[in-house]
Amino acid sequence: MTVKESLTVLLVEDDEDDFVLVRDLLEDIQDTDFQLDWVSSTAEARSVLQHRTYDLCLLDYHIGPNSGIELLRDIVSQGDRMPAILLTGQNDRQTDLMAMQVGAADYLVKGTIDTAQLERSIRYAVDRARTSSALKRSEERYALAAQGSHDGLWDWDLQAQTIYYSPRWKSILGYGETELPDSPEAWFNHIHPEDCDRFQTAFEAHLRGQTPSLQIEYRIRHQSGTYTWCLSRGLAVRDAEGKAYRIAGSLTDLSRHRILYDDLTGLPNRRLFLDQLDRALDRTRQNPDYRLALLFLDFDRFKLVNDSLGHWVGDQLLVAISQRLEALLRPGDILARMGGDEYAILLENIDRTPIAATTLANRINQVLKQPFYIDRHPIYINCSIGIALNSPDSQDVESLLRNADTAMYRAKALGKAQFVAFDREMHLEAQHQLQLETDLQQAIACNQFYLLYQPILNLSGNYVIGFEALIRWQHPTRDSIAPLEFISFAEETGLIFPIGDWVLREACRQLRAWQQQSPAFEGLAISVNVSRRQLSSPDLTERVASILIQTGLPAHCLNLEITETAIAENLDKAAAVLGQLKSLGVGLHIDDFGIGQSSLQCLHAFPIDTLKIDKSFVRQMGERHGDNAIVQAIVTLAHSLGMEVLAEGVETVEQRDRLQAFQCDLAQGYYFARPLHVEEACALLAESGRPFDGTLVDGCLSCDPTVPAYSVAS
Ligand code: C2E
Ligand code: MG
Ligand code: MG
Repeated sequence: MTVKESLTVLLVEDDEDDFVLVRDLLEDIQDTDFQLDWVSSTAEARSVLQHRTYDLCLLDYHIGPNSGIELLRDIVSQGDRMPAILLTGQNDRQTDLMAMQVGAADYLVKGTIDTAQLERSIRYAVDRARTSSALKRSEERYALAAQGSHDGLWDWDLQAQTIYYSPRWKSILGYGETELPDSPEAWFNHIHPEDCDRFQTAFEAHLRGQTPSLQIEYRIRHQSGTYTWCLSRGLAVRDAEGKAYRIAGSLTDLSRHRILYDDLTGLPNRRLFLDQLDRALDRTRQNPDYRLALLFLDFDRFKLVNDSLGHWVGDQLLVAISQRLEALLRPGDILARMGGDEYAILLENIDRTPIAATTLANRINQVLKQPFYIDRHPIYINCSIGIALNSPDSQDVESLLRNADTAMYRAKALGKAQFVAFDREMHLEAQHQLQLETDLQQAIACNQFYLLYQPILNLSGNYVIGFEALIRWQHPTRDSIAPLEFISFAEETGLIFPIGDWVLREACRQLRAWQQQSPAFEGLAISVNVSRRQLSSPDLTERVASILIQTGLPAHCLNLEITETAIAENLDKAAAVLGQLKSLGVGLHIDDFGIGQSSLQCLHAFPIDTLKIDKSFVRQMGERHGDNAIVQAIVTLAHSLGMEVLAEGVETVEQRDRLQAFQCDLAQGYYFARPLHVEEACALLAESGRPFDGTLVDGCLSCDPTVPAYSVAS
């Protein structure tokens, strides 16, 4: 059984007999149900049409004193999509023509209509109205899309040699809607002369059917005279023989594109990625079950590739890496180059577990095992991956990025080609770090630091030649905090600079104060620790010089302690920096010597005065025979290279005796004294009673050699 179609019809007819006639005819039509409304004047018709619409209007040509034509004109001019069929009493060409001009769907002569004719006329009118309304909607949709798009549109009629340029197309070139002619020249005259040939070749290749589509990047001249990069895409329309008769496409302004995409790899850049991440997080906020994962990738030792094989190889490697990574992604995943050798991947709509992310991380490490061949060099590269999932604790871009970053550093610390997912413990630690940063800033502002001074002794004469300044932090709510708890963090955050300046100034000021108490103390020196970050800062020498001037301390009384690893990390710059410092006249000491990887030979290239043997060697001296040999060898070698040797961490009389036997020059450690508060150091200096001109302090500074003389309750 077929369902009958139902159509609503308005009949405007002043003659009741004609109404009956039409009604009967409609009733005779088999497949359609007509709901007929009848009005007998144009005024009535207008008022009805204000409130509702009909599928069709049947309109008498003469209604009383008025003409149906007037009403029809109004209906059409108001953009009404209701088709209207005009009914007349006469059959003449003139009326027919007028009806068509005004926009009637058809025109029928009353006395002669039969059911079949009426049915056919209605069917045509209604179908045509529907088709044209669908077409109109689609045109409107297209116009809206073109308006909303950032791209310009063009449509080239190859036979007429005219091109339609959309307003957006013209505005990309800086022109108004009416400004450019619709000729091909309007376009081609704006192309950069160096790009013209390439452009033409690409066009012709596509027109000849040699390429599936047109796609070309080139420079185009803006009305202002400057060139901008743009991208044209296009597709030809062909006749039955394959000959193109029309080609249409888009114009994309790449200056905007450039802001959002990485030039080298073409991947989204940091800015676009953060924007996408923010939107994705919006979705998670709207739907608590929506989960996403962020992967942070950092390539291990990428700098080595750049430094050893050059930047060109480095760049090609990044392109190749990007392609390998892209091949692993599902549709919808976003891969971005965040800068340098850092990449990020966003996975959306995953399970509650990090499995999708860890699987991907595994596959990344797997595909990176294959070497890359750039310029015939096989290059092996690993990456460390940090994974973070959104959670109630991390719902914003910053915390998610921070979590992924923290996890990535954890992965790096674990070694090559690792991945680590951010977890609760890391979250707590991250919170702790955040608190620490706030507290440290507070500490700097409120001057919560103080220095302890650990005596350094000349081993051949057992007298104090100076002190090492060691920082402590008097936290307002905790015990005094040792430097190992905050120095490396201060380095990461850059807070080491104000802290380091304070230590230098305070240590120099204190020593100068002691020196001024007695001429006997003028030979004393102070050792200050300089961190990795300080060493790499370009103005270290200037800072040191200005502090020496401010405090009035002679340069030779200041020793800077620099660790072996800090030098190794700054190898390229270290020689210059150490040279500048040396020219100031300050002493340079290598701290914690022996635990790093540098050789004495390598250090010899730098103007070093003293090696401080790390306490781990001193501690093990008595226990492991090998360590005895190491300490002895270091002393002998250092001497042959013209350096002094200081042993740190001396805790026992045996250690002291051995070091003396090895001809070690200087020593420092609990056996002699713990790091001392200022007053204790003052007392020590006063108690020594005699000038520090090379005369002996009685034996060691302790009454009982096994108990440190000055224990400090810190
Ligand atoms: P360091 O420069 O090697 O300092 C020697 C460390 O060994 C000090 O620890 C000192 O208290 C400790 N020590 C001294 N004698 C003995 C001993 O006989 N046995 C043992 N086991 N340890 C001994 P402290 O004061 O905790 O400092 C630790 C590290 O923190 C320092 O190692 C230094 O690298 C860094 N540091 C200290 N103060 C500063 C500073 O003002 N600036 C910078 N950048 N780093 C500092
Ligand atoms: Mg030190
Ligand atoms: Mg040390």
